[in-house]
Amino acid sequence: MTALQQSAELFEQLTGRAPDGIWSAPGRVNLIGEHTDYNDGFVLPFAIPHRTYAAAGMRDDGRIRVVSTFAGDQPVEVALDELATLFPTPTGEEPAVAEWAAYPLGVAWALQLATPSTGSGTTRSGTQFKGVDIAIASEVPVGAGLSSSAAIEGATASALNDLWDTALDRTALARIGRRAENEAVGAPTGIMDQMASMLGEPDAAIFLDCRTLDANLVQVGIAEAGLAILIMDTRVQHSHATGGYRERREACERGAAIMGVPALRDVSVADLGRAEKLMDDVTFRRVRHIVTENQRVLDTVTTLRERGARAIGDLLVASHASMRDDFEISVPELDTAVDAALAAGAIGARMTGGGFGGAAIALIERDGVQAVSDAVTADFAASGFAAPHIFTVTPAAGARRDT
Ligand code: ADP
Ligand code: MG
Repeated sequence: MTALQQSAELFEQLTGRAPDGIWSAPGRVNLIGEHTDYNDGFVLPFAIPHRTYAAAGMRDDGRIRVVSTFAGDQPVEVALDELATLFPTPTGEEPAVAEWAAYPLGVAWALQLATPSTGSGTTRSGTQFKGVDIAIASEVPVGAGLSSSAAIEGATASALNDLWDTALDRTALARIGRRAENEAVGAPTGIMDQMASMLGEPDAAIFLDCRTLDANLVQVGIAEAGLAILIMDTRVQHSHATGGYRERREACERGAAIMGVPALRDVSVADLGRAEKLMDDVTFRRVRHIVTENQRVLDTVTTLRERGARAIGDLLVASHASMRDDFEISVPELDTAVDAALAAGAIGARMTGGGFGGAAIALIERDGVQAVSDAVTADFAASGFAAPHIFTVTPAAGARRDT
C-alpha cells in the first residue's frame, strides 16, 4: 500500500468516511549551503520524491484531530480555540501535546494567526477555522536529515489552506511551517526546509536567499549528464532541538555581533582575515564555515548554470571538509560515507542537513550506483557501524493536492 492510500485508510478508520481530499509535501535534501539559512545566507536544496500525505476533511464542530501512522495511530484532539493556550511552547519546555502532534497542530495554530478570523469561527468564506480531521502517513525517513518535519508541516499547511480557504501562497505556507517548528515544537530551525518542500520542481534545485526569501529555480540536469544522486542515510539519529545545533547558532550570533553586522551573510570571504584577529578560535572557525559555505552556494549556482552538474564535485567536497573541521557537526559515520563514496569514484560527496547524524549525499555516475553503494556498505561494516540505508533521489515536485 502506498503512503497516499495509507493516509486515506487511516482517515477512514478515524472518521468512518472518506477524506475531502489528500494533500502531500516532500522531504528535501540540501545540495549545498549548510547552516547558512539562519545566518540570512544562501542555500540550494531540492525536494525529493519521498512525500508525507495528509488525508483531511472538515468536521461540524470546532475541534481539530490529528493522527499519524508514525505515532501508533493514536489520535490527538483539541478544540481550535484551545490552540492559543497550548502554543507558543515556552523556550526549553516540551510541547503541551505529544511532540509529533505539535507539528500539525502548530501549523493549524500558526495558520490561524496568519489569517485572523473576523468573528468566532467564520470569515469571508464562512468555512474558515471550522473543525478538521487529519490523517498522516509518510514515506520520508524520520530524523535522517531529509526533513520529515517540513514534509508534515507542508502537507498539513496545504490541506488547511484549502479546507479553510485561507488562500495563502507557498512562501506564506513555508513561513507558517517554520513558525510551527520554532514556536510550537520548539526547534530553532531556519526556513530552508519548508521553502524547498513547498517550492520544489522536478529536476530543479531551489536557490534561496534566506534574507529576502527570494527563490529561483536552478536546473540541475542530473539525468541529462548521466549522473545520479545517492542518499546515504547513516541511521544515526540527530536532534535539532538540543545541544549542538543551538550552540552553533549562538556561535554564529556571537560572530556576527563581533563583526558588527546583523548576520554572517554580511561577512565576505575577504573579511575573514579581520575576523580571525577579533574572535576566539572556535567562534572564528564557526564563522569561517558560514562565510565560505555561502560563497560555495553562489559558486555552485554559477557552475550549474555555466558548466553543468558534473563540475560541482569539488564544491561538495570542500563543503564537507568545512563542516567536519570548522563547524564540527559531522560524525564518524558521515565521514565514512563521504570518504568511501569518493574512494569508489563519486564526483562529489558531503554530509547534508543539520549534522550530528542523518544523511550524506554523493554525486555519482549513473552506472556507478551499485558499486558506490556496495563500497559504502562495506566500509560501514568494517568500521562496526550499523548498515546504512542507501537510495537514489531525483529533484521532485513540491507540495500539492493529490486528490
Ligand atoms: P527530520 O526533519 O530531519 O526528519 P526532525 O527532528 O526535524 O527530523 O523531525 C522529525 C520529527 O517530526 C519526528 O520526530 C516527529 O515528531 C515529526 N514527524 C515527522 N514525520 C512525521 C509523521 N509522518 N507523523 C508524525 N510526526 C512526524
Ligand atoms: Mg526537520
